[in-house]
Amino acid sequence: MENVRDVVILGSGCAGHTAALYTARANLKPLVFEGHEPGGQLSLTTLVENFPGFPEGIQGPELISNMRRQAERFGAEYKLAHVTAADLKTSPITLQVGKDVVRTRTLIIASGASARWLGLPSEQALIGHGVSSCATCDGFFFSGKEIAVIGGGDSAMEEALFLTRFATKVSLIHRRDQFRASKIMLERAQQHPKIEMITNTIVDEVLDPSKKEVSGLKLRDANNGKAWELPVSAMFLGIGHVPNAQIFEGQLDADQDGYLKTTNYVFTRVPGVYACGDVQDRRYRQAITAAGSGCMAALEVEKFLEDQGH
Ligand code: NAP
Repeated sequence: MENVRDVVILGSGCAGHTAALYTARANLKPLVFEGHEPGGQLSLTTLVENFPGFPEGIQGPELISNMRRQAERFGAEYKLAHVTAADLKTSPITLQVGKDVVRTRTLIIASGASARWLGLPSEQALIGHGVSSCATCDGFFFSGKEIAVIGGGDSAMEEALFLTRFATKVSLIHRRDQFRASKIMLERAQQHPKIEMITNTIVDEVLDPSKKEVSGLKLRDANNGKAWELPVSAMFLGIGHVPNAQIFEGQLDADQDGYLKTTNYVFTRVPGVYACGDVQDRRYRQAITAAGSGCMAALEVEKFLEDQGH
């Protein structure tokens, strides 16, 4: 079959780019669909201090762009599109990309995870009008204003710290008084003069959809139920991520939160289909571990194709 690809990669974050680099260097001419959020989560972050090889740190967008250029140098092909449906039972595998059909002998799923929302109707109504999941993208718009950040993990700490560049005050609102954030990030946030920690507090409503802008939050004390309002001009979410694996529902195994289940790191239950990075990793979720699992998936693709006589 002429137009059958050896390998298609879904996603262009750390895992996808690393898989593209390795399969390109193996001369497999990988086709990468960049997905909804090209560059993945690193493209939305600021200084990355824990990716080995950069003693002074490196900006997330620069790191991800370097990875892409490195893969392209060896022949990886990138398309700004996303796969809308997949049939993993056919051989070769069939992928629907808009109106086009792409066929491939192997598939690497590196589609990552997207920001989680609280799910409040008032929050959804104000996305893009003061409600955001990306401080790097939208923080600038709230220069000189008071801002709220929701969450108690590293993402929330990072967002809060970043937003102090613009905001006069950042209220970090967390539903418990125990934090998932690493000690170093938590301490940085706690010690920052512009950041106030508000713990044991639930967001019940974002005000005010009728004005098409954020004017405050309706909050509730998780211990005594007391309700109160906090005036802010923006709300940034830092409450984790949801894996982008919906199109494989029923075809691949997933856990209760939708993370793809793999064995031996990257194997799904379908031969020739591998999953790597945040779409299958709910434990580590680091740039370096995503890159590592992208490499593993690429090496398994090589071996699979070789065993099949390609
Ligand atoms: P996370 O560690 O899972 O933390 C999510 C936080 O959001 C938790 O505090 C959780 O509260 C809260 N939350 C979840 N759903 C909520 C809801 N519906 N309402 C209110 N609060 C909610 O996620 P993350 O912060 O995105 O971090 C993910 C991984 O990336 C971690 O391994 C982290 O270390 C890493 N990371 C590293 C850096 C860095 O090193 N620079 C930056 C960002 C992320 P509970 O605690 O009550 O569950």
